[in-house]
Amino acid sequence: MASVHVIGAGPAGSVAAISALHEGHNVEISEEHLVPGLPTDCSGLISRDGLKSLSDMIDYRRHAIRPMHGAILDFAGHKLTVDAKKPVAYVIDRASFDSALAKKAESEGAKLNCGERISSKFRGKCIIGADGPNSSVARRFRFPKIKRFAITARCTVRYDGENPDFIRAWLSNKISSGFFSWLIPHDEEMAEMGTGLVLPGNPRPSIQALSRLTGFQPEGRIHFALIPLECRKKTSLRAGGRTVLLAGDAAGQVKSTTGGGVYFGTSCARLAGRHATNPENYEKEWRSLYHRDLRMHRLANLAYGMLPDSGIRHAGGLLSFFRMDEYLARKQQMDKPSHILDSSLLMHAVSAPFSRQKTI
Ligand SMILES: Cc1cc2nc3c(=O)[nH]c(=O)nc-3n(C[C@H](O)[C@H](O)[C@H](O)COP(=O)(O)OP(=O)(O)OC[C@H]3O[C@@H](n4cnc5c(N)ncnc54)[C@H](O)[C@@H]3O)c2cc1C
Repeated sequence: MASVHVIGAGPAGSVAAISALHEGHNVEISEEHLVPGLPTDCSGLISRDGLKSLSDMIDYRRHAIRPMHGAILDFAGHKLTVDAKKPVAYVIDRASFDSALAKKAESEGAKLNCGERISSKFRGKCIIGADGPNSSVARRFRFPKIKRFAITARCTVRYDGENPDFIRAWLSNKISSGFFSWLIPHDEEMAEMGTGLVLPGNPRPSIQALSRLTGFQPEGRIHFALIPLECRKKTSLRAGGRTVLLAGDAAGQVKSTTGGGVYFGTSCARLAGRHATNPENYEKEWRSLYHRDLRMHRLANLAYGMLPDSGIRHAGGLLSFFRMDEYLARKQQMDKPSHILDSSLLMHAVSAPFSRQKTI
């Protein structure tokens, strides 16, 4: 039995802790804030499948604010609606979700120290850095740097109340260079509106431009936060008789296209807890299970970032021509591009233009 010190009680830290406890380790968690989950830097949109993958640790339905049936995508002026006609994702209250996961780790035997910021003085034979995009653990142990980040700005808006079960996303490199803008309804009146762009961009003019485009005015404070847009080249090592593993945003295990990090971050964190004493196995297993999809997100994000808005509009037109709205609605897959780009896509692409002619 080893002692494991987890830094950060976000979803990755708590899941890593629970998983390490299941291996029989003694686990201690250090969280710099007084309450896990607060302040919240997340829109809370998580795929139904991603939430189900955590069902042994948390009942997501208790933290769901609203089910989402699909997305209304605006490709620089060209609209595409993906309607799965049933919930494919949920908007989750991240504060209560994070807090419940941390409580679960505590109830299983972890010692949770809130209000404790750790940047040195690590305890235990195994250290799991789940301390978010600005990871002190990664800095202290000189892990390879993450070079590409999005900086986001988000706020609450009173919106038009239309399509409350759909997220809206605007893809435009003029407004949100290298990333995108979003509106996520919380009910028929209020929504979260946000935008992000690749650093060193400034999100303040972007959210103003988005507000002009949508007509929705920010209410209250605008929150700024970072999203890593690439995985670290190395996420585990041995140092002075200790093992050090990174998980979640600290490792860059985030979908670069959307910034969604909860599904991949917690999936990898589960492996970090399981392999806390064996960093080589951790590195090998998370890369074999998840790196391909994360790399596909990264390549898509890089390619998108190079397009002028006219190219984005054209790409949207092509997606409509090939009826990708129907294909994506059928697939109901938000996390794994490898499950979208499979042989059924070819079949669909070949038949779609003909089925269009038939229905005209
Ligand atoms: C604007 C925005 C919108 C997003 N929307 C979504 C979304 O809709 N869906 C989705 O899946 N993802 C979304 N994400 C990403 C998601 O929030 C992250 O991927 C996720 O929170 C990562 O979890 P984590 O546990 O790795 O890190 P975090 O949630 O960042 O948790 C890290 C924890 O470590 C603590 N900590 C940091 N440093 C120290 C230290 N030195 N000592 C002790 N404690 C420390 C922090 O206080 C924090 O509690 C969004 C991100 C942003 C910025």
